[in-house]
Amino acid sequence: MNESPNCPICARELWEDEAGRHACKPCERRIGDRLAAIAGPRGLYARLCLRMEPGRRAPGESVSGSSSPSIPANLQILDLTASGGIIGTLEAWVEDWASYGLATRGTGGRLQHRIDQAVATLRLNLPRAVDRHPALDEFASEIDGIYRTCGALVDGGREPVKAPATCQACGHHFKFGLFDKGGADCPRCDQPHTRAQLLQPEQADASAA
Ligand SMILES: [Zn+2]
Ligand SMILES: [Zn+2]
Repeated sequence: MNESPNCPICARELWEDEAGRHACKPCERRIGDRLAAIAGPRGLYARLCLRMEPGRRAPGESVSGSSSPSIPANLQILDLTASGGIIGTLEAWVEDWASYGLATRGTGGRLQHRIDQAVATLRLNLPRAVDRHPALDEFASEIDGIYRTCGALVDGGREPVKAPATCQACGHHFKFGLFDKGGADCPRCDQPHTRAQLLQPEQADASAA
């Protein structure tokens, strides 16, 4: 039980129906989305592994071309995709959550299969972990780290371009991925915004003129 009135992850005040949780609902959704993005045949882990295979280079693309990872990036990818890398972090959390009755240990197999199993049990139990697991903020920050590191390496180190938006419900200023598809929810109040609403010029400061 979280005794604090705030979300331990984003520090915003918890709503009444979130009291006692170790993460607010938007934080829970973000953790779940990031876990989901790591697993699967088209997930970040699989795409990271592909970047290590020279045979997968597109025809006609030169070896020294800008889309091949640099040597330091290659070593980082090797570390992350090896058995002590991302899978080590995920399975350590599965082990930890299992001791709270919140996860099922995997059955082994290929690394990709172990990644998928670990992510599946963590996602399945996330709603209960939010109520019961005291170190959820630590878990969230490690999942965030994996997501961001993999994303940067998969995209060849390009930072996602962010644009500012103002929440139509609570006026909160937040950033959204300019080249992402679809809308985004306000990180403070959860209000959904369509793409068109996000791209509207900010009007909040007009009265100050
Ligand atoms: Zn939060
Ligand atoms: Zn809002």
